[in-house]
Amino acid sequence: MRLKDKVAIVTGAASGIGNAIAETFAREGAKVVIADLNTDVAKKAADAISAQGRKAMWVKMDVTSESEVDDGVAEVIKQFGDIDILVSNAGIQHIDTIDKLSLQDWKKLLAIHLDGAFLTTRSCIRSMYQSGRGGSIIYMGSVHSKEASPLKAPYVTAKHGLIGLCKVVAKEGASHKVRANVICPGYVETPLVKKQIPEQAKDLGISEEDVIKKVMLKDTVDGEFTTTEDVANVALFFASFEDNALTGQSIVVSHGWFMQ
Ligand code: NAD
Repeated sequence: MRLKDKVAIVTGAASGIGNAIAETFAREGAKVVIADLNTDVAKKAADAISAQGRKAMWVKMDVTSESEVDDGVAEVIKQFGDIDILVSNAGIQHIDTIDKLSLQDWKKLLAIHLDGAFLTTRSCIRSMYQSGRGGSIIYMGSVHSKEASPLKAPYVTAKHGLIGLCKVVAKEGASHKVRANVICPGYVETPLVKKQIPEQAKDLGISEEDVIKKVMLKDTVDGEFTTTEDVANVALFFASFEDNALTGQSIVVSHGWFMQ
């Protein structure tokens, strides 16, 4: 088991990519924390992992709320002891051209992705520094951390920003044995993507099938979606990579949509 007895907080783990990461980490021996806005589903996700004889808990956490993040992390420390891994994954999408985008929608998206990454990092890194055990902080970026698409100004801006935060955490954290990385997935068929297919079809004036074939997957090498398991395996690779050799780096997992 590659994460035996490590404590891992995964934000946005009630659904999609975060849920697959929590399940993978639990299978590898970690004690996992489902931290999410959506408490009913978070509880179900934690119960499903516990039912397999693995260790899991859930906390209600709106990652944009300083008090919910700090209280949630304190609860994890109380129940599971130190924190070894943070996966800052919670996120949303918003589809609009810049001329139609409201300040409110811009701020909401930036708050979830960037304030959320900062607040959860700050809370967990304090514990990692204090315990002296160090740890792994993983940000859920996107191909949109490296590349742009129309209709996604706040998302592309936020995802690029995570690369900057990761590099600072890598530099500041090194002497405390804290590593930081970004995972940059291509399109993964989760609720976040399923919701935007009809939205993009409407905005671009094309069919939903064409959104998938001619927009989302057109630059992949094989026309395939990336899977939640693909992303979870990269998260496991970063979380279990024990020294600083890879800190500050990002990996694109996108079926060749974007090649560095
Ligand atoms: P999803 O919609 O399936 O899951 C997102 C989860 O985040 C949900 O459980 C939701 O309740 C939670 N969440 C939303 N706002 C929150 C908040 N303020 N506080 C706490 N939790 C909150 O989406 P997903 O596709 O699994 O996306 C997860 C991450 O992966 C996001 O950061 C997303 O940008 C990123 N990503 C997704 C794709 C993709 O194609 N699906 C590609 C690249 C990156």
